[in-house]
Amino acid sequence: MEDLDHILTHQGEARKNYFNAMAPPIVQTSNFVFDTLDDFRAAFVDELSAHVYTRGNNPTNKILREKLAALEGTEDALVFGSGAAAVAAAVIACVQSGDHIVCVQSPYSWTYKLLTLFLARFGVSHTFVDGRSVAAIEAAIQPNTKLLYLESPSSITFELQDLAACTALAKERNLLTAIDNSYASPIFQQPSRWGIALVIHSGTKYIAVVLGVVCASKPLIQKIFNSEYMTLGAILSPSDAFLAIRGLRTLRLRMERSDTSARYLIDRLAAHPRVERVNYPFASDNPQRALAERQMSGAGGLFSVQLKARNIAEMEAFFHRLERFLLAVSWGGYESLALPFCAFYNVPNREDSTIPWNLVRFYIGLEDPEWLWKDLERALVWPA
Ligand SMILES: *Cc1c(COP(=O)(O)O)cnc(C)c1O
Repeated sequence: MEDLDHILTHQGEARKNYFNAMAPPIVQTSNFVFDTLDDFRAAFVDELSAHVYTRGNNPTNKILREKLAALEGTEDALVFGSGAAAVAAAVIACVQSGDHIVCVQSPYSWTYKLLTLFLARFGVSHTFVDGRSVAAIEAAIQPNTKLLYLESPSSITFELQDLAACTALAKERNLLTAIDNSYASPIFQQPSRWGIALVIHSGTKYIAVVLGVVCASKPLIQKIFNSEYMTLGAILSPSDAFLAIRGLRTLRLRMERSDTSARYLIDRLAAHPRVERVNYPFASDNPQRALAERQMSGAGGLFSVQLKARNIAEMEAFFHRLERFLLAVSWGGYESLALPFCAFYNVPNREDSTIPWNLVRFYIGLEDPEWLWKDLERALVWPA
């Protein structure tokens, strides 16, 4: 991204407006005041741009919005109090009762519940498809389909969708397209370059503050603002926007470090006798590797492996031997994490209970990769 440094240092930062402070101020206010009635009237014509009330527009949040839109190459962006709020606002804005959504199979768990539990109650139906096949996506489109919802790479096993082929199909069939881009981040993948209309992030991950983002054209952002954004009111606090702006300054450095360390550990794991397979977009045996190289410039710190364990007890012992990796969901911070799917195996009412029990999702953070390898090597030892 040629303008990345410009975006992170300058975009949106009108320092003259706040005493030439290098870091932006946290504009901690609910209200903005007006000098005249005419100003008052004029502001209400455009609450997205004018300063009226912080649920609509806050100057600290606006800086973050400008940077995120620039990073994704879209005209505008909205920020939310969580990724789930951003997903819900974007999806709900595209549909009404009677409509249908085509969604990649096994999306993020709360996106799955948005479609299966929440929107189903309001007469919006859905079909989950294997997103690796454009033919399968096409076959799932119905006359009432309004939205094609993607996650590329997808969660857990990192399958991709061909974004150019998906947008071509969506255009032909008059569908809106949305993608959850939390896994690749705008550093490694900009879906708007391939024509995706709505680019969503859980900023809780690599942006490293609990927040959500929707990036899109001005008309789509205005549409979401007028309805879901203002009525559901799941806004981001200006203090958190400040933290996110600060975190963005190091996003590229952090992503590159995670990416390099993950590749190093994947090479070592792939050669280890206790490892059955590695799921990673750039894995040498991944049939989608050429597609990954076409649409992503990196993968970050996430991948999963299946271990050659004979039973759940052996998997549990592996996790108990880990001392440096932390057991946790989520990712994107300093600390390297291991997510144990044997913990969910056969648990009732969990859609991930069918994920193989020998699967571990790793997030590689910013620690020394050699130090992390020592931990894995020590834990990957069990009787033959
Ligand atoms: C975490 C996550 C979300 C939800 O984000 P929150 O900030 O936790 O609400 C959505 N999509 C993906 C891919 C995620 O990993």
